[in-house]
Amino acid sequence: MINSLKKVLSKPVDWANAYSIWPAHLMTSCCGCEFGVVYSPKLDTERLGSLPFTHSRNTNAIVIEGTVTKKMARVLKNTYEQMPGPKFVIAMGACAIDGGIFYNSYNIVKPWKIVPVESFIPGCPPRPEAVTHAIARLQKKIMKEGKASKEVFGEAGNGGGNGSKE
Ligand code: SF4
Repeated sequence: MINSLKKVLSKPVDWANAYSIWPAHLMTSCCGCEFGVVYSPKLDTERLGSLPFTHSRNTNAIVIEGTVTKKMARVLKNTYEQMPGPKFVIAMGACAIDGGIFYNSYNIVKPWKIVPVESFIPGCPPRPEAVTHAIARLQKKIMKEGKASKEVFGEAGNGGGNGSKE
């Protein structure tokens, strides 16, 4: 009985989660300007059910826009821990992936060593369309892998810890 109820509810749960990705954005560098265009009238990413958001406790997604320094790594970790599950992290731009033009600098941290990163968007800066595409890809992944329903029905954990680069 419980199992069939879970089966019936899993699709709507995944659907609701996939189409309510409202990412908080950790804007540390110039990629943040490109992120602004993602929700502009030109691209209108809101039509995919996604909105930019400000408060980590009310969102389960975060976009890292640019370099993460040692100081900001603590902020990233705290923000991630405050988010409800299932948690999704998108690393936007060369700087957020590997340090970009600051590669190997003494103060730069690779975000995927701090939190699990779901999606990497290459480029310097990436086109805003690439961010919209990453969100659409994430929605497909949530629906296909049942990421939200697994979290809600306790079949999979998505806790903090070190991430792995895909
Ligand atoms: S990837 Fe390029 S545009 Fe983005 S934060 Fe780094 S230097 Fe700036």
